[in-house]
Amino acid sequence: MRKIFDFHIHVGHYYEWSLKARQLWLETGPFWRDIYNEAGELDIDALHKVLVGEGVVGGVLLPEYALHTAGVLPVERAIAVSQRYPQYIPFGALNPEIHKDPVAEFERQLELGVKGLKIHGVHCQHPVNDKRLYPVYEICRDRNLPLMLHAGTSVFPGTRLRHADPYDFDDVAVDFPELSLILCHGGRGWWYQLAEFMVQRHENVYIDVSGLPPQNLLNYYPKMAKLSTRFIFGTDFPGVPGVAANAEKIVGLGFSESALENIFTANAARLLPDFSG
Ligand SMILES: [Zn+2]
Repeated sequence: MRKIFDFHIHVGHYYEWSLKARQLWLETGPFWRDIYNEAGELDIDALHKVLVGEGVVGGVLLPEYALHTAGVLPVERAIAVSQRYPQYIPFGALNPEIHKDPVAEFERQLELGVKGLKIHGVHCQHPVNDKRLYPVYEICRDRNLPLMLHAGTSVFPGTRLRHADPYDFDDVAVDFPELSLILCHGGRGWWYQLAEFMVQRHENVYIDVSGLPPQNLLNYYPKMAKLSTRFIFGTDFPGVPGVAANAEKIVGLGFSESALENIFTANAARLLPDFSG
């Protein structure tokens, strides 16, 4: 089985997801049945077992503070998983509506052990180029911590598509040329071409292909093979039909072995010193 680093794994208790998030995303895959205990809490050992069974050798764990849409899955869940299994790397998350002092909250999360940050403007209803977050982006830049931005559609009620405006993402890439920026879902919905253009234009921009039908990737990104150092495998686990199956579909697209290595492990290892590959 191919070794996979999954750059996009959501962690939290079952009951922390909103009802709609469970119905429209979490329960569309098979994994939710195995990873929570009877009380609806995340069973860390069960999660690890499921991921290992899919060929996952490590991953990025994502909290979420989407008060009005997906739910609030605090950073402590990601930290708990990584403390038991350090091959999973916890990221922080912020929502300016909840975190009135984003710098103070991010510093708290850094103390807990996060190694990067995910911002979800679509679920948290704010633009990603929100100036309240710029001091936090400066911290990420200065400490060489990757910043993930949810870049594309979401089907949950209450989500604001205006905050998936590609020009907002371009602003962050332009304003922080030394910050590693990952466009999660690579412009899903209607701006794949612009996302690929941003990868070409900005040396610091990457695409994580989570939440996209893998068999369509070369239609969305015709230059993906040439740009393989900038495309990263991720799934949006646990709301995904299969991790190994998704990986196999990507293998089936005919990339070179070195491109596959970049996509599945090497790019993640370069971005995350805590993952040796
Ligand atoms: Zn996601």
